[in-house]
Amino acid sequence: MSGATSSLNCGAEVLARTLGSVSQPIDLRSMATGGASIRGIRQAVKQAMPDPNLVLVQATPAFPRICLNCEKPASVTLKLGKSFLVDSEHDSDSVADTFPIVESFEVFICPSCLAQRSGELTQPSPWLPIRRLMSHANGFAGLVVIAISSLFFKEAFFPFKLAPLIMGLLPLSIGIWLIRPVWQNSLHLILPKPTLIDRAIEFTPALNLDHEPYWRAYQFRSTSYADSFRQANIHHLWDTKSPDAQRAAKLRKAESNRSNWIVGIIVGLVLAWSLWSELISPFLNGE
Ligand SMILES: [Zn+2]
Repeated sequence: MSGATSSLNCGAEVLARTLGSVSQPIDLRSMATGGASIRGIRQAVKQAMPDPNLVLVQATPAFPRICLNCEKPASVTLKLGKSFLVDSEHDSDSVADTFPIVESFEVFICPSCLAQRSGELTQPSPWLPIRRLMSHANGFAGLVVIAISSLFFKEAFFPFKLAPLIMGLLPLSIGIWLIRPVWQNSLHLILPKPTLIDRAIEFTPALNLDHEPYWRAYQFRSTSYADSFRQANIHHLWDTKSPDAQRAAKLRKAESNRSNWIVGIIVGLVLAWSLWSELISPFLNGE
């Protein structure tokens, strides 16, 4: 049964490709460096379908037991981490905040490709912690404030004095408060530079909106690997045009209409009240 469905899917894809369908190719690797919001990535993925190298899967995917790189049978797994820089949703005239989403999956790999990858991996720079702190202006500000707190702490010990200790705690906590988000938002910098093997797979962050199951897009360099991956997840594929997707879109639209109505009624009541209190009521009272 699943074999029949899959050959039907393949048939549809071949037909779409032969007819020159309007799908637009997508480059997830360059999208991952920032500039798109979740909605933007979602839209690009939808426009790219059907794409033989792009697979949309709900929930946690199952990886085929073949090497990600050479596609020989494989039993060793490799935890592959990737980052995706995502823009927050914003108005067209304001600057978007970019935040990293770091995800990893265990893929199968053969011993020789694993060895090849280890050879290509670059060692993390000893300056990495500094780079992380300097990735946002608040990181530098936080360091300066912590340096100021250290001046108080110098006075607080040998012999111990309580006042400078308390005075020092304030800038210290401000410094930590400034640095913490910078540290968390630079997690993507600790990932090693992707090797050639790492680039055999790209994946997006979760792209589901309200009322949809959790799903994301996976893109593979090899079409035959993508076929094996599609087969391994045949019961959990996500289709952006499926009845489930359409039902979720209708529910979201109904909700947004409902909130528009609620906002509309509140605005209407406020207007009616100001009209009454500013104009009608004084007029009736002959003021
Ligand atoms: Zn291999």
